[in-house]
Parts: sequence; C-alpha cells; structure tokens
Amino acid sequence: MFSYRHAFHAGNHADVLKHFIQVQLHKYMNQKDTAYTYIDTHAGAGVYALDSAQAVKSGEYVDGIGRLWGRDDLPPALAEYVDLVGKLNPSGKLRWYPGSPWVADAEARLEDRLRLFELHPADIRVLAENVRKLEAHHAEQGERARGRRILVDHADGFHGLKALLPPPSRRALVLIDPPYEVKLDYKHVRDALEEALKRFPAGMYAVWYPVLQRMESREFADRLKRLPAKEWLHVTLSVAGPRADGNGLHSSGMFILNPPYTLEATLRETMPYLVQVLGQDAGATFRIEKGTQATGTVPTQGGPRKPVGNARRASPLSGRGSLRLPGQPFGDDPRARKEGESTEPRPPRSPRTEAKPAPRGPAKRSGSGRS
Ligand code: SAM
Repeated sequence: MFSYRHAFHAGNHADVLKHFIQVQLHKYMNQKDTAYTYIDTHAGAGVYALDSAQAVKSGEYVDGIGRLWGRDDLPPALAEYVDLVGKLNPSGKLRWYPGSPWVADAEARLEDRLRLFELHPADIRVLAENVRKLEAHHAEQGERARGRRILVDHADGFHGLKALLPPPSRRALVLIDPPYEVKLDYKHVRDALEEALKRFPAGMYAVWYPVLQRMESREFADRLKRLPAKEWLHVTLSVAGPRADGNGLHSSGMFILNPPYTLEATLRETMPYLVQVLGQDAGATFRIEKGTQATGTVPTQGGPRKPVGNARRASPLSGRGSLRLPGQPFGDDPRARKEGESTEPRPPRSPRTEAKPAPRGPAKRSGSGRS
C-alpha cells in the first residue's frame, strides 16, 4: 500500500502539467477577496530534492521541469509556474522541486486555508517538517495568519475531503492526486467527487490521473463527465507514443470540475508549447475538451420549464489538439495541415501497450512519483 513515493517522479512531465494548472487555479481563486480553503487530498512530501537518490535514480525531472528550466520563450502560464519553481532555487541551479502543498502555499494568500492529507508514514513526517519550515519562514517575514493557516493531517484524503465540505467561506479549491497504484483509486476519486458535489456543488475540483491502457483509466474521464457539476474541462498531455515494452508513464490528464472560465484559453495557448518542448517522439500530443451539464430547460409553450436532468452535452467548442514536432511529417488526419494547427489525434499506429507507472521504490527522503 505504501510503495508509492512521489520523490521518484517529482518534476516529471505529469507534475509539470498538474502544477502549472494548479498555479492558474490559485490565481483565479485569488481574484476574489473572499478567502478560500485549498484541500489537497494526497499531498505527498511537499518539497522534493532533485539530487536525492530517488530523483537521481529515475531522472524523470530531466524531461519535465528540466526542459523548461532556463528557457526564455515560455508562454505566460508556464513562465508563472517556472518562476514559482525558481523561488525554491534562488541560486539558479535546479535543485528543489515544489510539490502541490508548496505551490499552494506560494500562491494562496495569508487569509486562505490549506488542508493537507497524506497517508504515507514517512512522507507525512517530511511534509509536516516542510510545513513547519514554511510557517517559520512566513513568521520571519512578519506574515502572520489568523489561526492555523496550514493543517497537515495523517489521514485518508478521501474521507478528509468529505469532512471539510462545505468550507466556512463557501469557497474551495480541491486537488485530488492519488497514486492510482490500485485500481480502486479511480472509483474512490469518482465517489469522493460525487459526495463532494452533493455537499458543495460550487467547489472547484481538479483531478490528476495517468492515461493508461487499463480499462479504469480509459473510462475514467467519461465517468467524471457524468458527475453533476455545471462544467468540466479536460486536458491530456502525451509526451510520447506508447512504448513497445509497455513501460513508462507517457501521458496524463487533468480533469477540472467547475473550472475557471479563463482556463481553456490558457490551455490552448500553453499546450502546443508543452508538446513541442516536452515531446519525446512523434506520439507527443495534447487534447483539450470541455462540456457543460445541461441544467437547462427546454421552454415549452406556456408551460413550465422542463429540467433536462443530468444529460450532458459536450460543448460544440470542444477541441482536441496536437502539434507536429519539428521535422515530423503530417499524420493521416486531413485537418492536420499546418504546423501549429489543432488536429484530432492520430489513431494509434500499433496496438497500444499498457503504459505502466514506473516501479516505485523506497524513498529515503521526500517521496513520490507515479513511476
Ligand atoms: N499531490 C502531490 C504533488 O503534486 O506534489 C503528489 C501526491 S502523490 C502523487 C500521492 C500521495 O498520496 C503519495 O504521497 C501517497 O503516499 C499518498 N496517499 C496514497 N493514498 C492516500 C490516501 N488515501 N489519503 C492520503 N494520501 C494518500
């Protein structure tokens, strides 16, 4: 149960996708004065040393944050994310990588609340220590929140989420980021969201997941689309086509319920760049789609408005996209005519092999990664 350590995966392409979007979600939440609660159901260790044995062993960050580090042509959303990573690395050498709790601490305001859950007995200790250091740093800067700004709980995040909703301020940003080591995680995420939406339909919920061939993963997004949230936005990033040996995590997704209205445009601006810079072969691609719950109503002549119930409609604006890598020929898709133009992804060229998360090993320090 505790074999997953995020330290092996910190800063990889999946973290880049997750954390650059997390930064954007905070920035959106920060636009209103009312404080909000950030809930991290699977917090990990908080901060990761990229020169730790785990990170060095997997080397995953090299093809993630490593490819963005030091670039001067970043689109705005990636520049904001890389700046944040830069604050952890003031010398300019990429040594530390922020986990989602650190991203939240950096982006949320003093009046916002952070509620962090972590089950791993080693990672919870590292997380608590990292949070203690963060709070000491804030205190040194004279930044004192009223009451406890950050709470760390050694508990199951799925249960913890339930207990925290609705939040006192009636504003919440929730990140759900389990290891998906066990198939049941997919079901737990869906069930947790269903319950959360009942308790607090207005919350913003962001879910990271690995795009794999296993059935639970393939059906996951479609299941989330059927949840009773007003709107959803779904983005996937594949940095490579599936490998013949079936190993490696080459593709992951973020599914956001009640997303900021600005996020789709940000993704459309950012994802082509990510594909170009993080792409490892011609299978690199991205996909964006969105939808709404048809809450609405078919006006009937002179009669009451009829609810359409839970019927969902993919937005006609739903899009998919991919970008040709430099030097890569156009695929079969007739719409893929110009470099930079949004296209349908090409059909798989060979039977897709299962992309297994990398083997997770014991971590010495901060943990993680879906390896
Ligand atoms: N969200 C972190 C980030 O972006 O930096 C990474 C989290 S990592 C992918 C998943 C974490 O969830 C692991 O540290 C694992 O120990 C923890 N975990 C697994 N099951 C859990 C559960 N039911 N509740 C809380 N934490 C759990």
